[in-house]
Amino acid sequence: MTQGDAPLSADLPSDLADLLVHLSRLAQSAANSPLTAAQWTALRYFARANPVSRTPSAFSEFHATTRGTASQTVRALVDMGLLARHADDRDRRSAKMEVTKAGHDMLAQDPLGSLRKVLAALPQAEQATLARTVRHAVTELATARGAPVFGTCSDCNHCDTSGAQAYCHCTQTLLAAPDMAAFCVDFRPAAGADKA
Ligand code: SF4
Repeated sequence: MTQGDAPLSADLPSDLADLLVHLSRLAQSAANSPLTAAQWTALRYFARANPVSRTPSAFSEFHATTRGTASQTVRALVDMGLLARHADDRDRRSAKMEVTKAGHDMLAQDPLGSLRKVLAALPQAEQATLARTVRHAVTELATARGAPVFGTCSDCNHCDTSGAQAYCHCTQTLLAAPDMAAFCVDFRPAAGADKA
C-alpha cells in the first residue's frame, strides 16, 4: 500500500493538528544548533520583514509572545552580532533591527532549510493548495485569538495593483518588488485571499 492509499483517520482534524505541531517542532530541531528555536525565528523574521515591521514589538506579535520575551531574544541576537539596532529617523524612541552580514551567513545554516527542500520537491499544484490551506488556517486561528495576521502585499487588502506600480493605501507609498515579498505588520487579508 502506498502512502496515498492509506485509510484516512476517523478524526482527521485531530491528526492534522498533531501532525502540524510535530512538523513544526521537527523542522526547527537540529543537532548542535548554535541558536534556539526562538532565536532562529527572530533572525528569519527580521530578514523577511519590511522596514516598518522590523521592530521588536512587531516581532512579538508575529511570534505570539510577550514584548519582554521578544526583547530578550532580540538582545541575545544583537549580543551575538547577528542583528544590529538602528534608531528610526522619524521616531528616535523606536529602533529598527537589521540582520548583519554575520546574521545572513548564519541563515545559510537555518534548520528550516530541510523542510523547504521537502516542500520544494512537491508538485507545484500541491504546494499552491497547501499554501492556501495553511494560510486559511492561520487566518482563522489568528482571528479567533484576536492576534494579527502576517502576510505579503499580493494578498493584502491595502494593496492596489490597478496602476503601473503597486500602491499601498496603508503606508501611502509605491511598492517595489522586494517590498511585495516582505512580511508586513500592517497586512490585512484581502477578502477570499486565504480560501483554499
Ligand atoms: S500593501 Fe499591505 S502588506 Fe503591503 S506594505 Fe501595505 S499594508 Fe503592508
